[in-house]
Amino acid sequence: MRKKIVAGNWKMNNGVQETEKLINEVKDSISILDQKNVRVIVAPSFVSLTSALENAKNSKIEVAAQNMHQEKNGAYTGEISAEILRSIGIKTVILGHSERRQYFGENDKLIAKKIDAALANNLEIIFCFGELLDQRKLENHLFEVGSQLKNSLFHLKAEDFKNIILAYEPVWAIGTGETATPEQAQEMHAFVRNVLANKFGEKTANSISILYGGSVKPSNAEEIFSKEDVDGGLIGGASLIAEDFVAIIKAI
Ligand code: PEP
Repeated sequence: MRKKIVAGNWKMNNGVQETEKLINEVKDSISILDQKNVRVIVAPSFVSLTSALENAKNSKIEVAAQNMHQEKNGAYTGEISAEILRSIGIKTVILGHSERRQYFGENDKLIAKKIDAALANNLEIIFCFGELLDQRKLENHLFEVGSQLKNSLFHLKAEDFKNIILAYEPVWAIGTGETATPEQAQEMHAFVRNVLANKFGEKTANSISILYGGSVKPSNAEEIFSKEDVDGGLIGGASLIAEDFVAIIKAI
């Protein structure tokens, strides 16, 4: 059975104390929930990772990093490697987020290198992909997503997918208040599963959790999560408000 996952991407928000407060609020509210097949992941800034791990100890909350560099070590001022993340106990990293692609020039090829470095260090990956508004308007969204998957994932082995979570994030829906309709999300998720089934086999494709991301909030979460191929969500804005994030976790 595929795991259901709700992950919060906290981006460049919150200092250490605010992160601790948010984690503890979420932790207290979900401690009474009995959701065995649901994983809850939060991704604070690099600076807050150590204290986040400490505060999330003995709870259902897992802590992920938002990014990492593809090289093992060396003269890359300001960067963090997979090995450094492992050294503080991080087990999961978000890669390929559209903000990394858009503002930091990350492309499919670079993201493929990051994926390889993460897997080599036994890090689980939340791999983000999605089309731009123009590509959706021109009805090129399936083609675009197909090429992102091909360019960043097709060199992997089926067994690598044990450590990969996918997150479909249409760029036009991120932080805009616009959400893909549940039908649009389902269409894309089924397409992605089919692309992976053709390349890596049905068994692998059916075992991969595919999250939807893009303005998920308490009011739309349940409907989006009800779709067959939607296994949870990657949440930005709404994950910064404990009450909303918890409501989204309950919706799954
Ligand atoms: C995101 O950045 O991954 C995201 C989904 O953001 P939001 O929920 O704010 O659209």
